[in-house]
Amino acid sequence: MDFGLRGRSAIVCAASKGLGRACAMALAHEGVALVINARTSETLERTAEEIRAATGVAVRAIAADITTSAGREAVLAACPDPDILITNAGGPPAGDFRTLTPTQWRAALEANMLTPIALIQAVIGEMCARRFGRIVNITSASVKSPIPSLGLSNGARAGLTGFVAGAARQVARYNVTINNLLPGPFLTDRLRSNLTEAARRNNRDVEAEIAARAAENPAGRVGDPAEFGAACAFLCAASSGFIVGQNLLLDGGAFNATLG
Ligand code: NAP
Repeated sequence: MDFGLRGRSAIVCAASKGLGRACAMALAHEGVALVINARTSETLERTAEEIRAATGVAVRAIAADITTSAGREAVLAACPDPDILITNAGGPPAGDFRTLTPTQWRAALEANMLTPIALIQAVIGEMCARRFGRIVNITSASVKSPIPSLGLSNGARAGLTGFVAGAARQVARYNVTINNLLPGPFLTDRLRSNLTEAARRNNRDVEAEIAARAAENPAGRVGDPAEFGAACAFLCAASSGFIVGQNLLLDGGAFNATLG
């Protein structure tokens, strides 16, 4: 299927590794020129080179902390009017909700709610003027089914989800869509670090912990980041303009419900 994206431009945030990288790679395979971002220059440059080598598209790498206004300005300066925006940042730390501090809350809100909102606000006007825009926010399955140890994620991402529900319906008539992708367990560094504590409690190593989680999942495995990237590219397709304000869960069926 041709997604009709050849020649388009995209910003993909937090994209040197994991799910962001997979989204960047999938868009590049559709012929989309990229600005990718992460904090660590070395891994980011390596990823940029791998994407160029695999797809031949132009990739600019902007090493910056996307949760800071300076970081966002640097990324937007490299691509002021993207056709596509993929928002992403590292997930907040785990912890007992009783011990979460105001400082931790502010960091989580900045990373997982206010940063994507600021980026959306920065690009949405031109997208509407050009009558094309695709915005995908990488959130979490925790939006639908809270993860007890991730109170910061449960809370901050719910705020973004509410904002998107309202904003998406105000721009859809301009062929600008905003949707959220909700990852369940995908095999990335983040999953490994999230399961470290559980592995310790269960007296096994992280790979054994992942294998146990995979066995419990209806799909019998955890997700491959490339599958996540493919879903992202689909939401960005020219033919996806009627998919508006949705929360697409990719979790192998782990969320048990008759209706999504
Ligand atoms: P990952 O493999 O750890 O990759 C995170 C990427 O984000 C790296 O490229 C990292 O590079 C970059 N990054 C982190 N903080 C950043 C910042 N402040 N500014 C710019 N770049 C930043 O994580 P992932 O699994 O892809 O997760 C992506 C998002 O999905 C996270 O918010 C995570 O909580 C969420 N999620 C993941 C899963 C899963 O199973 N993987 C499930 C639910 C939700 P640098 O460190 O160099 O900046």
